[in-house]
Amino acid sequence: KGKSFQEEVNFLHLQFPSLLATFSISRRIGEGGFSNVYLAELRSNTKVQFAVKHIIPTSLPVRIEKEIICLNLLKGKQNVIELKHIIRSGPHILLVMPFIAHEKFTHYFMKMSVCEIQDYVKNLLMALKSVHELDIIHRDVKPANFLVDRWNRTYSLVDFGLAQLPPSLLKSKEENATSEKEQLKDACTADELKEDLESPSKQSSASLKQKANSRAALKSCTNVLEVSRAGEPDDRKGSPNQQLLPIVRTQRNLSGRPSGTKPSVNVKNSPCKCFFGPYVCDECTKKPVQYAYRAGTPGFRAPEVLMKCPFQTTAVDIWSVGVIFLSMLSRRYPFFKAPDDCTALAEIITLLGSQPVCDMADHCGKHLLLSEPVCPSDLKDVCLSLRHSVVEQLNDDSEVKEQRKPENRPNDIPDMAFDLLKKLLDPNPYTRITAAEALQHPFICDA
Ligand code: ADP
Ligand code: MG
Repeated sequence: KGKSFQEEVNFLHLQFPSLLATFSISRRIGEGGFSNVYLAELRSNTKVQFAVKHIIPTSLPVRIEKEIICLNLLKGKQNVIELKHIIRSGPHILLVMPFIAHEKFTHYFMKMSVCEIQDYVKNLLMALKSVHELDIIHRDVKPANFLVDRWNRTYSLVDFGLAQLPPSLLKSKEENATSEKEQLKDACTADELKEDLESPSKQSSASLKQKANSRAALKSCTNVLEVSRAGEPDDRKGSPNQQLLPIVRTQRNLSGRPSGTKPSVNVKNSPCKCFFGPYVCDECTKKPVQYAYRAGTPGFRAPEVLMKCPFQTTAVDIWSVGVIFLSMLSRRYPFFKAPDDCTALAEIITLLGSQPVCDMADHCGKHLLLSEPVCPSDLKDVCLSLRHSVVEQLNDDSEVKEQRKPENRPNDIPDMAFDLLKKLLDPNPYTRITAAEALQHPFICDA
């Protein structure tokens, strides 16, 4: 990190000499929190392009492992990026994927027609349907991880580094410690990769190893029920929500029950002593430590993630789809931008009202204390007024013309879009629409 592009290429030359004999690295195409991604062209045929993701070696091996397991399980189908090869040299891992010529979301979200929005949401839901069918939670659904080639209308979900694997693939920490090493040991060498790329039809040692690898990976998933690292914010500008936000504090209720059943103690009526004071009371110090996943990117985290509910499902990804959809309909990106989880909850409450969020907290075994009740906003009104104000602010003539085309007029968004938005942004993960259901929604299937 912090190196110039040339320094990075020199470094890759040193680490992967035979790889660089096969590929030429032409530019850096992405820099996430955990990796550098390069455009690599085959020296023998520069039209054949790949994206090579160099995972920063300080990343936890389990993070790398999870990404490989997910991509191998998903097999590059249904708008999920294909993992072609894994190359290892010491602690350095390269993931080789097809290159998706994509534009940044910030370059096009203001110009999207209703058809394009429908297409985007539909393709993202298709990717998530296949991910969720395997009981995998992506956990970092956001525009930077959903690559769109607008020219060819192709879509690809990438970056499974924060993904949460299903319990059936979880195992003990001891087993994991040895299997992490096993897993990475099997990644192919650059020579094997060269052989594979130059004769893709025959089953080379690289692809055979990769298959073995995915089997090893399947057996070697780790138990990660701990607070995970947050993802990286990206493309973040000013928040649209400058209005005063209610003050929000969350507290785990006494039973700390994760599932949908009502807790036996109504903490709403009897909050513990320390909730209003500076010290932690006896009652609270006796509670067992509660762990919850928190992985994800600020602004895209679902209420259950912000409230640190220990039981989280694939519904967290659906919330993130709702946030992206909200940005496209309102032409505001990022839509939510809060410095901490409580302010993030306050932003959500400002939009959806306090009652549904408090009900959801209750449902998930949490108690939410607010400075004041907040009425829900009408999502359609919010989106259309924000969209409209964008049109008025635009100075560029050609942009204004584009905005005024009938298909782009704010009031041309069908009401069904707002109905779907409401169902994606349902604060309650138990009633939130699923990817499969959303694909059947009239806004998507009548497109
Ligand atoms: P990180 O885990 O560091 O966020 P990502 O897998 O999200 O890494 O990749 C970072 C960026 O690299 C992406 O946002 C995207 O711009 C670019 N990128 C990743 N994979 C590809 C690909 N297959 N084709 C083109 N660009 C890619
Ligand atoms: Mg990413």
